[in-house]
Amino acid sequence: MPEKYDLIIRRAQLRRTPAGQWMDIAIADGVIAAIAPHVDGIAAQELDAAGGLVTESFVNTHLHLCKVYTLQMMDEEALKDYHGADMGKAMTAIELAARVKEKYDERWIIENVRRALVDAARYGNTHIRAFADVDSKARLEGVKALIRAREEFRGIVDIQVVAFAQDGMVREPGARELMHQAMELGADVAGGIPWIEYTEEDMRQHVREIFDLAVEFNKDVSMLVDDAGDPGLRSIEMMALETIRRGWQGRSLAHHARAMSMYPTPYFQKLAALLKKAGMGVVSDPHTGPLHARVRELLAEG
Ligand SMILES: [Zn+2]
Repeated sequence: MPEKYDLIIRRAQLRRTPAGQWMDIAIADGVIAAIAPHVDGIAAQELDAAGGLVTESFVNTHLHLCKVYTLQMMDEEALKDYHGADMGKAMTAIELAARVKEKYDERWIIENVRRALVDAARYGNTHIRAFADVDSKARLEGVKALIRAREEFRGIVDIQVVAFAQDGMVREPGARELMHQAMELGADVAGGIPWIEYTEEDMRQHVREIFDLAVEFNKDVSMLVDDAGDPGLRSIEMMALETIRRGWQGRSLAHHARAMSMYPTPYFQKLAALLKKAGMGVVSDPHTGPLHARVRELLAEG
């Protein structure tokens, strides 16, 4: 009796086998059961890759899914500021981009989101941590659209919706209430951006409040930290300390952290040790400019 599988992909080019040495991949109960030049078996579904490359699917840990295809609606000035050589104007760019949000409406956002997710699936991006702005302009429109999309694409693209306090928790009026409502609606992750607050004390407050939400709703944390060419920005450290304090090890993720590229070495090493202790991941977003998180060195520090 031939072995029975759910799916067999035949004649697949893999990354680590020589070109032209095609393999069959057999899948049963959601896991790869066999990889061989020829899998003897039958499956409910067979696909012929015909020599095409077959890889793991892609994971996108940082996508502002509520803002896809809004480029046409955004001032050119904003883009220039954000990508400029010194990136000192990154803060102004975020404020300029906020103009798009004055027109925020779940009804047009969902159309853009669907378009992006169909493309994601088509290109093999099957897991996305998706940010939805939550502030007095965006209100809950982005969160609602992304939650709807998460349900529509279930089983195709796995979406984690991040309720994201883009304009701050302390300096933005009403952000606390809106963030709480977003978590109640069913957001999967509590998302912050502490470095955008005006003072260090406010940054600490911001970090604490995001963790308050995470603990209340038992959710993971994502924060966009220190996204400017300023070595004085150290909200990533505040986040790591709070992760440990709350016992949230392994459940928090820092994004951007561009300032890290300018930290003096002794401080960088201390921070790397702290991140390790917090079990904290770091997502680099190198497309936003010449500076980026020191990924290779973080790996070297364990
Ligand atoms: Zn971002």
